Amino acid sequence: MARPLKNLCQVAVIGGGLAGLAAARHAARLGRLVTLFESSGMYGGQLATVDHVDGLPVPGAFSGQDLAISLLEDARKVGVQVIEAQIDKLEAGTRLTLTDWEGNFHHPEAVIVASGASLRKLGVPGEEQFTGRGVSRCASCDGGFYRAMDVVVAGGGDAAVHEALVLARMSREVIMVCRSPLSAQREYINRLDARENVRFVWDSEVVEVTGEMKVSGVRVRNVRTGAETEIAAAGVFPFIGVEPNTAFLPAAMRTESGHVASTDPRIIAAGAVRAEYGGKAVQAMAEGVSAAEAAHRALS
Ligand SMILES: Cc1cc2nc3c(=O)[nH]c(=O)nc-3n(C[C@H](O)[C@H](O)[C@H](O)COP(=O)(O)OP(=O)(O)OC[C@H]3O[C@@H](n4cnc5c(N)ncnc54)[C@H](O)[C@@H]3O)c2cc1C
Repeated sequence: MARPLKNLCQVAVIGGGLAGLAAARHAARLGRLVTLFESSGMYGGQLATVDHVDGLPVPGAFSGQDLAISLLEDARKVGVQVIEAQIDKLEAGTRLTLTDWEGNFHHPEAVIVASGASLRKLGVPGEEQFTGRGVSRCASCDGGFYRAMDVVVAGGGDAAVHEALVLARMSREVIMVCRSPLSAQREYINRLDARENVRFVWDSEVVEVTGEMKVSGVRVRNVRTGAETEIAAAGVFPFIGVEPNTAFLPAAMRTESGHVASTDPRIIAAGAVRAEYGGKAVQAMAEGVSAAEAAHRALS
């Protein structure tokens, strides 16, 4: 039976990371007319540049791109309309209105907010200036530039340790600058322990990225003593946590930390944009599926 063309955007999904892709695909399989909006043109979100995704409950090795592309292709097959545009505003009146970056309006009946999170910046002198000239947020894309050189990784969570492990395969030494003890999962820490070319600078934070034409190192401050030291390095990889992408939501729909706080049954959050999110790719996909079910129920 032909589908009504009146409202191609019955369920709008904001974000083409794993949560959004899983949500869009599932909502379409439930028979909904689904439009997915992705702002970066790179599907897979935070995992788009990850070579090997850990912790998937299926055998085999998958990159973030493998997963995203297969979900995207499958979503398209079941009728999801994909629009490469950023949503700049969500208004929740009697009807929902999304405004994209070209000023187009969309009026879905339900919205799945899966806009995820972005890596937090260090916010120190030199960081912006040297982005692309020594400061990077992707070990698998840029690690090769620092083969047999020393690199600094700032942070001690899963993403920092994951990327340090990638860099340790190529760099001479990986220097991890950590404010507090490692909070990464035990398996990552064990793998890091087994590397001989990783050293730690504890209780410390990066206060400046130094260099002239390109990065020559970082200045770090010991957060206990206040003492500052310089570390020579050719590359700096900051992984000091993430911030939810929710600037397009009304203030009343954001918590203090910037995560989604929706009590409107038509607006459902999934994945890294939620404060309670568990942090794993498989959880993002599962939340996407649950959000699709909730959107389907809200429309029924
Ligand atoms: C370096 C690194 C390595 C990791 N490795 C692993 C791993 O091995 N295993 C694992 O389980 N987890 C891993 N993770 C965690 C995992 O990547 C995330 O938990 C998961 O990808 C979150 O998915 P998401 O879809 O909720 O959000 P995201 O991945 O953040 O995707 C959100 C998407 O929404 C888009 N977007 C944002 N705002 C808008 C807007 N206004 N309009 C339209 N689109 C928008 C973004 O461009 C992005 O594509 C890693 C994370 C990092 C940073």
